Amino acid sequence: MILVLVAGGMTIALAWGPWGHQHINRAAVFALPSEMRPFFYNHIDFITEEAVVPDLRKYSINDRAEFPRHYIDLELYDPNGDVSGLPLTMKEARSRYADTFLNKAGTLPWTIVDVTEKLTKAFRERKKTEILFLAGDLGHYIGDAHMPLHTALNHDGVMTGQKGIHALWEGQVPESFGEAYNLYTGETKYIKDIAQETRAMIDSTHHLVERVLAIDKELAASMPKEKVYLLDSTGRVVNNQYGDPVHTAEYVRLFHERLGGMTEQQLRGAIAETSAYWYTAWVNAGKPDLSDLDPVELTERNRKNLESDLKLWKKGKVGMIRATGDFGKWVKVQ
Ligand SMILES: [Zn+2]
Repeated sequence: MILVLVAGGMTIALAWGPWGHQHINRAAVFALPSEMRPFFYNHIDFITEEAVVPDLRKYSINDRAEFPRHYIDLELYDPNGDVSGLPLTMKEARSRYADTFLNKAGTLPWTIVDVTEKLTKAFRERKKTEILFLAGDLGHYIGDAHMPLHTALNHDGVMTGQKGIHALWEGQVPESFGEAYNLYTGETKYIKDIAQETRAMIDSTHHLVERVLAIDKELAASMPKEKVYLLDSTGRVVNNQYGDPVHTAEYVRLFHERLGGMTEQQLRGAIAETSAYWYTAWVNAGKPDLSDLDPVELTERNRKNLESDLKLWKKGKVGMIRATGDFGKWVKVQ
């Protein structure tokens, strides 16, 4: 099953798939400390839906400037994928590389640093709408930074004859097995240096690239084609509407097994980091009081639900995600 978003008459593929991005943002709300959690919980459906909006900007309004924010082709910055010489900020990146290069090679880590700064400012000024919008966006980019193929030049396996591996890893796998994952990450932490932390995040994610590609290569070579890909009645590989081959349920299961918990680990990493970045921005803004940004009645009305959802989260679950919102509706296409 592949989930796509239909908005404004067009269909859109989403990084991490909607399942991943929405669960990351939603779970991050529960990991927040008690001074922040009730405010974020009041808007948890917005935060959940906002998780996919940065991808919508790419496609639905064809915002070209949005594309490079979602990835970094690390090998274009360093042939060995070494992050130690990587710029720490967008300003530094702009001073060292031409815009055309940055637009091609991707700017994901500096986008994360930038959005964190904007979120800090929004907290300081206690601008409710901006806080929610930027926090949602930040969760999306941090999610992308935990997807190995978002940090690699060979981002869809095309260079190694493995086209479709991107959607397999971030879409088919979590959509098939994510419900069994444990998303509890404990309470959040303060980050001393956002730029360094972001660079380390990219580094750790990038170290998984080789394994992801190798597992797929070996597994696909061990099975006949009809067990790897969904075939139509004429024996041709079924593609989704973006031209990516669709893998069989059995292949998705075996691939997931061989990944040995990698998807769950990356998802949990993204949740822990998202809450930590939100928390750090709030601390750096001087820990502004968020309790009067909403009517007291709203927070009071949500108190009981928050308590029961928190219990659920401690068991690793984040409750129901509403599949429809202002941005379109989810449909099954496979
Ligand atoms: Zn993205």
